Amino acid sequence: MMDGRTESLFAADGAAPAAYASVVVDIPARALSDPFAYEVAPALAGDIAVGCAVLVAFGHRPAIGYVVALADSIDELPGAEGLAGKRIRAIDAVLTEPVCSAYAGAVAYWMSREYVAPLAECLRLFLPPGGTPRLRHAADGSYELEPPAVPEVRERVVSLTPAAADYLPPARAVRQRQLMEALACGPVTTRELNLLYTDLSAAIRALEKRGVVEVRERRAWRGIDDQTTLSSARSSAPAALTAGQSAALGEIERAVDDGADDVILVDGVTGSGKTEVYLAAIEHVLAAGRTAIVLVPEISLTAQTVGRFRSRFGGAVAVFHSRLSAGERLDQWDMVRTGAARVVVGARSALFCPLSDLGLIVIDEEHEQSYKQGSSPRYHAREVAAQMAHLGGFPLVLGSATPSAEALHRCRVGEYLGQRWCRVEMPERAGAGRLPDVIVADLRREFAGGARSIFSRPLREALLEVAERREKAVLLHNRRGFAPFLMCRDCGCVPTCKHCSTALTYHERTHTLECHTCGATYRVQPYPAPGSACPKCGSRYLAKMGMGTQQVEDALIELMPPEAKVIRMDADSTRGKDAHKRLLEEFDAAESAVLLGTQMIAKGLDFPEVTLVGVVIADYALKMPDFRASERAFDLLEQVAGRAGRGERAGKVIIQTYLPDDPVIRAVAAHDRAIFTSHDDAERAEALYPPYVRLTNVVVRGRDDARVRAYIGAVARAVMDEADALGAGAGTGEEPVRLLGPTSCVIERAKDQYRHHFIIKSAPGLDISGALFRAVERVGAKPGVKLSVDVDAYDLM
Ligand code: ADP
Ligand code: ZN
Ligand code: ZN
Repeated sequence: MMDGRTESLFAADGAAPAAYASVVVDIPARALSDPFAYEVAPALAGDIAVGCAVLVAFGHRPAIGYVVALADSIDELPGAEGLAGKRIRAIDAVLTEPVCSAYAGAVAYWMSREYVAPLAECLRLFLPPGGTPRLRHAADGSYELEPPAVPEVRERVVSLTPAAADYLPPARAVRQRQLMEALACGPVTTRELNLLYTDLSAAIRALEKRGVVEVRERRAWRGIDDQTTLSSARSSAPAALTAGQSAALGEIERAVDDGADDVILVDGVTGSGKTEVYLAAIEHVLAAGRTAIVLVPEISLTAQTVGRFRSRFGGAVAVFHSRLSAGERLDQWDMVRTGAARVVVGARSALFCPLSDLGLIVIDEEHEQSYKQGSSPRYHAREVAAQMAHLGGFPLVLGSATPSAEALHRCRVGEYLGQRWCRVEMPERAGAGRLPDVIVADLRREFAGGARSIFSRPLREALLEVAERREKAVLLHNRRGFAPFLMCRDCGCVPTCKHCSTALTYHERTHTLECHTCGATYRVQPYPAPGSACPKCGSRYLAKMGMGTQQVEDALIELMPPEAKVIRMDADSTRGKDAHKRLLEEFDAAESAVLLGTQMIAKGLDFPEVTLVGVVIADYALKMPDFRASERAFDLLEQVAGRAGRGERAGKVIIQTYLPDDPVIRAVAAHDRAIFTSHDDAERAEALYPPYVRLTNVVVRGRDDARVRAYIGAVARAVMDEADALGAGAGTGEEPVRLLGPTSCVIERAKDQYRHHFIIKSAPGLDISGALFRAVERVGAKPGVKLSVDVDAYDLM
C-alpha cells in the first residue's frame, strides 16, 4: 500500500533546530501536490517545529504553508533531492504553534496521491475547525493570521481549600453552609451552582477572602451537554462476554499489543454485542496509555450511542457530528488536542482529530456509504483508516451485521495491499434477545384479493396485537426513490428542473415542486385543482404519485386505538436541534407506541420493548440502477429487522413486498446472509464490479457542451496512454484497465452545467491513481471546464 516515498517524505516531530523545512503551501491546486523546500533563518530556528503554520512567498504572493519536515542540511530534507546548490527561498515568519503532526502530514500525502487530490486540500482536513486560515495585514505592515471567528469560553470552578476543614460558618450564614456542602464532594462550576442554588456569589466572595474556598478560571468545553433519559444510553460492562465477543476481543488485543496493522472485521448479527467489544478494546488501549477513534455513521450518532461511550469513559470522550455549532466543534477539537479527551466518537471526519498516541480505530457499520466523502478529496474513511493503522502501527476494527462485499472479499483473501485482513464471527445475540421471526407479506396477492390498504392483513393484525399487549412497534417507510412527485396521467411526463435533469419532488404543504440538486422551487397546482396543467401536453391530469411518511402516518392513526401513540420520525419532524432525541425519548417513555420513520430509525436503536417491526414496502430500494442497490436494501432490511426482539419478549418482522422471490428478501426471511451474498457476489464477478475491479469515475462539467466533450476526450486518451504503460508491467491475461465512455452522465445537466464522464475499471493491485495523476497533469487545467476524479467511486450518476 505504501509507495516508499510516503514514509520518507515526512520526518518525525521535534527535529528542531533545523536549517531547512519542507512546507505544504496552502494553495489548493492538483499540480501543487508536493511539499516545497524553504530555508529556515537562524532567527526562526528556535520557534519552528513540524506542524507550524508559516508565512512563505509563493511566486509573487504571500501564502500560508505548513511545515511537514525539518532537516539540518538540504540533502537530508525528504523530497528535496537535487536542490543542493540551488537558490532556496527563506521562510518569512512562523505564524502559529504546531497545528498538525508529522503523522497528519504523512496521511494527507497518501490521500492526495490515492485520491488524485491537491495536497493542501487533504492537509486542511487535519487543521482545527473554524474555516480555512487566511492572512491579513497586521498593524506593523507584516502579515498575520486572521483570528478565529469563534472565541473560547471560560468558566469558574469553586473548590474547598485545606483550611475548610477547620472552618465552621456561623449558624446564620445559610448560604455559606450551602456552599460548603455543595463543594464537599469536589469542585463545582459557578454555572452549576447557579442552577442548583439561589445566588451564592456573596458567600463565595466571603469564603474566598477567608481562604476557605478557592476560585479558578479554566477553559470550558462546549458541546458535551448531551444528557438523555434513555435507559439504554447507560452501559455498564456485562458480567461475562459471550464466546464470540471473547474471540473478537482476543484478536484485537493481540494486534494492539503486537503493534500490528491488522484489519479485524467483527461480523456480528444485530444485538450480538459488537459495541461491547469496542468498549472493552478501547479500555485495553486506554490502559496502555494510548487513544482511540470510533467512527459511527452520522445517522446513528444519537444520544443513545454517545451515551454508552460516555457512561463508560466519562469526560474523556469527545464527540463530532454535524449538529454541533462552530463553537462546540472547536471546543471538542481542543479537548482532543490538549489531551482532555482520549476517545473520539464521531462521523467520517473525526478521523482527522489531533489525538496523540493513537492506538486503535473502530469503524462501526463499516458497509455504510456515508463513509465515502462526496466532494474532493473523495476519500473513503475505511481506506484512510487502514492507511492510518499501517502508518501508526495499530489495528483497525470494522464492525457490521452486513459487511460490505469489499470487506468480505479482502478477509477471504486474507490480505489487501499488504495488510492482513481477518474476520471474527459473532452469530448469536448477546444477553436475552433472540433473532425475530420474519414474515413476508406478498402485496401482489393482497392486491389481487382486492385489498387497497397501505397495510396487508398480517401487518394490520400484528399492529393491533401490539397495541392490545401494550408493546411497541417500529414501522419503516423509506422514502428514498419514493418521494411524492407529479406525473401526467395522459402523456406520462414527470416535471423536471429547468437547470438540471432531476425529477422534481412535490411538497404538499407549500404546493411547490422542489429540485434536490439545485434547490430551485416551482409553484404548482396538481390535479384536481382547477389550474392544473401538464407542462408538456397541457392535460389537466397532472396528479400526485408516490407516498409520503405523513400519508402512512394518517393511515396508522386511523388504524391504531388511541392508547397506542404514533410517533413519526423523518427529515421534516427532526429538523430542530434535539428533535431526534426528543422523539426517541417520547417513544421510550410511552407505554405502547408505534415509531414510524424513514431509514433513520433503522440504525442503532435498542429498545427491548419493541416486539414488532414492519416494512411498509421493501421494493423501491431493490430496483435502483446501481450495482450496490441490493447490498443497501439488504443492509436496511437486516438492520430494521434487528430492532425487534432485543429484550425478553420474542420479536416478529413483517416485510411487505411485490418481489417476495428476490434474493434480498429471501435472505432476510431465512436469516441466511449467504442467499444474498452468493447471488450478489456472482453478479459482481460476472459483470466485473468491485471487489473484483476498482471503479474510478472521472467527470467533467461546464456550461459549453462542446468544450466539455473535447476536454474529457483528451483526458480519456491521456489516461489510456498512462494505463498502457502500467498494463505492460501488470502481466495478467485480462485487460488490466478498461475504460467505459466518455459519455454523458445519467444526470446530464446540473445547475446549468453539462456533465460528461468516463468510468475506469482497473485490476485491484494496479496503481490507477498514479496513472490518473500523470494523465491529469499532462492535459492540464482548461478554462470553462471543471474536472473531478472519484477513485473507488460509489456514486456513478
Ligand atoms: P450490537 O452493537 O452488536 O448491535 P450491542 O453491543 O448493542 O450489540 O448489544 C446488544 C445488547 O446486548 C445490549 O443491550 C448489550 O448491553 C447486551 N450485551 C452485550 N454484550 C453482552 C453480554 N456479554 N452479556 C449480556 N448482555 C450483553
Ligand atoms: Zn435544479
Ligand atoms: Zn402531459
